[in-house]
Amino acid sequence: MTQDPSHLPSSHPNLWHPFTPIGGMPVPPRVVRGSGTRLFLEDGRVLLDCISSWWVNLHGHAHPHIVNAIQEQAETLEHVIFAGFTHEPAERLAAELAGILPDPLTRVFYSDDGSTAVEVALKMARQYWRNLGEERPAFIAFDGAYHGDTFGAMAAGAPSTFSAPFADLLFAVERLPFPATWIGDTEVEVREATILAELERLLEAHPDRYAALIVEPLVQGAGGMRVCRAEFLQSVAAILRRYGVLLIFDEVMTGFGRTGTCFASERAGVTPDLICLAKGLTGGFLPMAVTAVTEEIYDTFSSPSAEKTFWHGHSYTANPLGCAAALASLELLRSNEPIYRGMESHHRDFLAGLDMTKVIRARVVGTIAAFDLQIPGEPGYFHEVGKTFRARAIDRGLLLRPLGNTVYFMPPYSLTDSEREMLYREVIHLVGELA
Ligand SMILES: *Cc1c(COP(=O)(O)O)cnc(C)c1O
Repeated sequence: MTQDPSHLPSSHPNLWHPFTPIGGMPVPPRVVRGSGTRLFLEDGRVLLDCISSWWVNLHGHAHPHIVNAIQEQAETLEHVIFAGFTHEPAERLAAELAGILPDPLTRVFYSDDGSTAVEVALKMARQYWRNLGEERPAFIAFDGAYHGDTFGAMAAGAPSTFSAPFADLLFAVERLPFPATWIGDTEVEVREATILAELERLLEAHPDRYAALIVEPLVQGAGGMRVCRAEFLQSVAAILRRYGVLLIFDEVMTGFGRTGTCFASERAGVTPDLICLAKGLTGGFLPMAVTAVTEEIYDTFSSPSAEKTFWHGHSYTANPLGCAAALASLELLRSNEPIYRGMESHHRDFLAGLDMTKVIRARVVGTIAAFDLQIPGEPGYFHEVGKTFRARAIDRGLLLRPLGNTVYFMPPYSLTDSEREMLYREVIHLVGELA
């Protein structure tokens, strides 16, 4: 039997890769080892991991401090059911997180990944109101948002090609425009004012309808590294507070130093009622997530009644290996603070030197820098230039994964000065090549 080779699975007959069209997919490089910011390929090439392997790796690959922590924990207790039992790594991690999160966020609920952290937040927000004797059926979210791939997370995310096959199965969400801004943008305040007025109108018309608003604070990730101002989030929070609507910060991407402060909430000067954390939590070693909430939310669930209980959990909830990795990663995060705080000024200098005839909307928040390529074609995730750029970047020794015509980077904090210079130099070259 013969098959069109462009439809053959291109890496392995038993594998199915995420977020990858199967037809015509190039053979994926095989990675054999990682160390610091570098990935070593089987064919001898070395790549600089400029996107922290999908935003998870904080301190570099195979960091020995986290390796040791996981090994020690594995030899002691690899896992135990977390319903009806507890363990020290879970307790220590919850206390550590409560210590670094904005003050009122004191209760930690563990799950497995960013999507489940969002599911948990949405379910908690909904049941919070029910436990108070109110039905608040609806949520508010933003255009361009990405909250994950499970059904609740897809519903909260902006409708897209990703979620289109399931559109009729998703609960309805009230959606606001996102006031994306960039360096040199002079009209953002006008856009923000319109959106704030729309939010106010929604809440005025139906003050008891909305359980919560969910937002990726300061930077929308998968939606194109779109940046908003802290002032906007402050105004949103103030309006919500007047109507008693809960605020959920999806900090799955922005957590753990990415925006130049430990959490985007700190930089934005806004404290949410619920916060979702995942990607960087274990430093990129193990899948684990957290939804942290205020004592006020927790209190509405503290009852022996089955109706008021949060009936949610995953087999690997509070996995001790994940907790140990996260604790070790938080220790490294403290010593890496000057690095994640300092990265923004380097990024700013770099962006200021870019050829602005080919690049528009340069933006930077902390360790995340992004710009859009001004190349003919429909702007957005499916712009062909993204694939070209990605392939050429690999040829030049960089792991980059543009979101269509949006090029961004978000390196691990292990990035050395010379690696940073290489990253900037090669990106300038890659942009130049697109003439
Ligand atoms: C990646 C991401 C998610 C989903 O996390 P997974 O671990 O991939 O399930 C949710 N929200 C944001 C903001 C993300 O960047």
